[in-house]
Amino acid sequence: MVLADLGRKITSALRSLSNATIINEEVLNAMLKEVCTALLEADVNIKLVKQLRENVKSAIDLEEMASGLNKRKMIQHAVFKELVKLVDPGVKAWTPTKGKQNVIMFVGLQGSGKTTTCSKLAYYYQRKGWKTCLICADTFRAGAFDQLKQNATKARIPFYGSYTEMDPVIIASEGVEKFKNENFEIIIVDTSGRHKQEDSLFEEMLQVANAIQPDNIVYVMDASIGQACEAQAKAFKDKVDVASVIVTKLDGHAKGGGALSAVAATKSPIIFIGTGEHIDDFEPFKTQPFISKLLGMGDIEGLIDKVNELKLDDNEALIEKLKHGQFTLRDMYEQFQNIMKMGPFSQILGMIPGFGTDFMSKGNEQESMARLKKLMTIMDSMNDQELDSTDGAKVFSKQPGRIQRVARGSGVSTRDVQELLTQYTKFAQMVKKMGGIKGLFKGGDRVDGKAAILYSFPNL
Ligand code: GDP
Ligand code: MG
Repeated sequence: MVLADLGRKITSALRSLSNATIINEEVLNAMLKEVCTALLEADVNIKLVKQLRENVKSAIDLEEMASGLNKRKMIQHAVFKELVKLVDPGVKAWTPTKGKQNVIMFVGLQGSGKTTTCSKLAYYYQRKGWKTCLICADTFRAGAFDQLKQNATKARIPFYGSYTEMDPVIIASEGVEKFKNENFEIIIVDTSGRHKQEDSLFEEMLQVANAIQPDNIVYVMDASIGQACEAQAKAFKDKVDVASVIVTKLDGHAKGGGALSAVAATKSPIIFIGTGEHIDDFEPFKTQPFISKLLGMGDIEGLIDKVNELKLDDNEALIEKLKHGQFTLRDMYEQFQNIMKMGPFSQILGMIPGFGTDFMSKGNEQESMARLKKLMTIMDSMNDQELDSTDGAKVFSKQPGRIQRVARGSGVSTRDVQELLTQYTKFAQMVKKMGGIKGLFKGGDRVDGKAAILYSFPNL
């Protein structure tokens, strides 16, 4: 089961609470059963799943709890908390220091995605303004240097390697020395892998590590082996000083849930996840936003980061309005315009509350873009009164004839227009509830992720 399906199933289970007239033991158990079945189907270890069920049950005292709405929210929140726990290694991850020469060494089995991920990480930091480079110390695999060179050239990242030198220790040392002298901030060293965990692989890794003294060793793990990740991660951690993990191939893979929870169980901090073959298919991994996106609740914090990367002109007017709790359809339109510039869309849409369904489904860039464009086309058929009302959805619900007019004008069904209004309501609710949302669409203050989670539950 792919992760997007897992998210949908859990969301549907949580939603069953909202549909139930009373919340009793039976309803709670049925919901938990659905959640647990979905997790097991995603290859999460049965012990972890059992623990989750027990923790939720012990956090909830149905007798003690008062009103229905409150009960639902508290149960949903308890499930959310446990899901976060499932992927949270509870260890703070290493982060590079700006202005310093950070040497990052990649290790992992052959085919796990090291070379691809090296380039993704380099590209990620380069876009954020760090002076970044790549070194190919894989002399084992024929064509390894060409592969890295190709990726680096495409992304305009300086690189180092050799066609003739066969000793990875020499290449790695020379490369690191050269780039350190040139004051590079992120120096990424790609190494070779083997098909199995063999002594020769570990020996080579150790030699390279001893020679270059990396600040961080990143272990690259292919998600497709699911739960087996736990044993493999442990084996690598035992041999070298692995400080962080990147889990690759989480796009549409059946065992993603198993992989993430298994790695977390070894207390290894996952720093990024790979979600495709393209250099952009790469996301920082943070437990709360990850679960939030999985359940279609968006990731406002991630969205803010993305918007900040764009360095747009400031949005004083919007911020002023938001402070007064106003978020109109036109504001949403303008934010969509910003989003169009950001890419990749499937990632961005997952960050918007109410849009979660595209989460991690790969290769639907065009579909996502088309979806956003369609929404904008619908809004193009709205008039100023509709676009600028502080509660756009209400204007329509008061006079449903407007829905038909807009549908005709934009060549869509009335249901499409209604869906857009529902999405607007969710987005606006989220944006408003965040209160004095100084950080949104502008640099500066961060939003409290916890508040976002609590407030987003009414959307379920
Ligand atoms: P290495 O042997 O560890 O260096 O692995 P490579 O970087 O050469 O990757 C092996 C294969 O996995 C290549 O075909 C990559 O395109 C593919 N790959 C790497 N990361 C991802 C990912 O996140 N998603 C998908 N779908 N493929 C990936
Ligand atoms: Mg490689």
